[in-house]
Amino acid sequence: MKIYKERRAKLLSKLREKEIDGFITLNFESSDAANIYYLSGFRGSTAVLIIAEEESFFTDSRYIEQVQNEVKGIPLHQVKGKYLDDVAAAVIKTKITRLGISSNCTSYSLVENLRGKLPTIELVPLKEEVEQLRRCKDKEEITRIRNAIRLTESSLEKILTQITPGMTEAEIALELEVIMRKAGAEKVAFDLIVAAGENSALPHYRAGNRKVKRGDLLLFDIGVRAGGYCSDITRVFAVGKVTAKAQEIYDIVLTANRAGLAAAAAGKHGKEIDKQARDVIDVAGYKDHFGHGLGHGFGIEVHEQPRLSLLSEDILEEGMVVTIEPGIYLSGFGGVRIEDDILIHADGCEVLTSFPKGELRVL
Ligand code: ZN
Ligand code: ZN
Repeated sequence: MKIYKERRAKLLSKLREKEIDGFITLNFESSDAANIYYLSGFRGSTAVLIIAEEESFFTDSRYIEQVQNEVKGIPLHQVKGKYLDDVAAAVIKTKITRLGISSNCTSYSLVENLRGKLPTIELVPLKEEVEQLRRCKDKEEITRIRNAIRLTESSLEKILTQITPGMTEAEIALELEVIMRKAGAEKVAFDLIVAAGENSALPHYRAGNRKVKRGDLLLFDIGVRAGGYCSDITRVFAVGKVTAKAQEIYDIVLTANRAGLAAAAAGKHGKEIDKQARDVIDVAGYKDHFGHGLGHGFGIEVHEQPRLSLLSEDILEEGMVVTIEPGIYLSGFGGVRIEDDILIHADGCEVLTSFPKGELRVL
């Protein structure tokens, strides 16, 4: 496939600037699944890819047929013994002298083992070389992300009609996952967060046995993986009635969310955008109740570069897809987070999520 070939060529030309003439992706039990998928189209859990003037792809009998379908234009080797023996033998036959390897996704023992088999070749640890390429999405990737979002939003709309007081968070999460899978999701992008009442004050809560009751806030932070790409969206609802406190924090978070959206554009610093949204919450008196960053990139994985936070050094570029997700969390009461997915353009951003958020909707 042309797109994968282009990505490998781009990576290699970037590496050549550092006098590195090859790159190896060692994907064992999905240890580097996202990068090998990005570079080759392979969706399985175990394979090795060598990118250099002479490329090669290694897998074992479990994946041979799958590779033949998914990976085009790279010579395929079937491993019958130990992966690293075959891989090292192939590398030695090439002209590679300095071989790049992902230090984020490769275990130390694997690197040591490979180094022992390649004594004349320098292994160069590279932290985020492929991840950086993945930051800006191409047209096809954006289409897949749009589809994943659409599927998530229609599933959310469906589950909302089925919720009745007395259901547990876990029951709602399970029903929602069934709806998503039936609609075409490969899987959920992360453990779905369905948090009722006081649990919605825990930003990374999952879904437990708490029953939904009248007067609760009910928070959904949900996403799917479809066509290899993720979505990530948060909406909050009120069950039966809206309390004054819930309305107050909802309105502030909505204003912060809109401030974040208005600030996002190519050339802007991640921390600047975070600040625009955070200031709204600070000024309203909830400074200590928004502890996480404003947003993050996503794509093949649900958390990717860049980061939008006070500590971020990232600068937004056209084609990046990121979340904007401010929140206020009140321990013992509940929390509100409103998370949208956006595509960065030169002069602003396009909001890809369209699930209504203008009012705190009562279920
Ligand atoms: Zn989320
Ligand atoms: Zn998120």
